[in-house]
Amino acid sequence: MTTFWLVALSGLLGLAVGSFLNVCIYRLPLDQSLAFPASHCTSCNRKLSWFENVPVLAWLVLRGRCRTCGAGISVVYPLVELFTGAMFTWAAWRYGPGWLLISRLLFGCMLIVLFFIDLRHRILPNVITVGGTIVGFILSFVTPPGWASSLIGLVIGGLIPLLLAEAYLRLRKMEGLGMGDVKMLALIGAFLGWQLVLLTLAVASILGSLVGLGLIMTRRGDLKLALPFGTFLAVAAMFAAAAGEPIVQWYMGFYR
Ligand SMILES: [Zn+2]
Repeated sequence: MTTFWLVALSGLLGLAVGSFLNVCIYRLPLDQSLAFPASHCTSCNRKLSWFENVPVLAWLVLRGRCRTCGAGISVVYPLVELFTGAMFTWAAWRYGPGWLLISRLLFGCMLIVLFFIDLRHRILPNVITVGGTIVGFILSFVTPPGWASSLIGLVIGGLIPLLLAEAYLRLRKMEGLGMGDVKMLALIGAFLGWQLVLLTLAVASILGSLVGLGLIMTRRGDLKLALPFGTFLAVAAMFAAAAGEPIVQWYMGFYR
């Protein structure tokens, strides 16, 4: 029964945190403060009343429109809240209370914000990538993968992609990986360790190639269209954090 309440409370907390992540996604790329001004309609600037800040429900009640000016409110807002709530629910059930739960939730929140900011603006803010790398390394002293794997992970995450980026630049005469992607890989390495950051890089590359091919075949893009790699890295890192461990065990089994 205690587990039930922990999971339920975590889910509710997740909905509220999702609402804050929306603020980060919207304001970080614009260099705006996260705290001031209070939430307002981005169209008419009216300050939102308390019930308009209730996650998911407010959007449903308002049917996705501002009460005053009628401007549409993107469905992305309630979706981010719902997804964050689901992630908190799942993680509380999967990990139980402790440092690992805190570590994975912080990491998941960073990935959600990076996913959307890279998709919309093609940037990965340093405050999350570099700041998060430091937080991930510190947390690795009390959680898996341990500080040694975390340290190797953040070096591999930073170094290998740097070499790949250099090779890509010489072969294609264009930038494939930006420095933001490299810093994001260091972040993933710091939180998940060296094995899972390599898995993340592999999964993200496959995902990116498949989506790229799909876009070319439907003639909506060409070979030079730069896809936001950080967006694919975020999806791949979520997968690696949730399901990567058995895959690594299976793979390492070949070398025994
Ligand atoms: Zn409005």
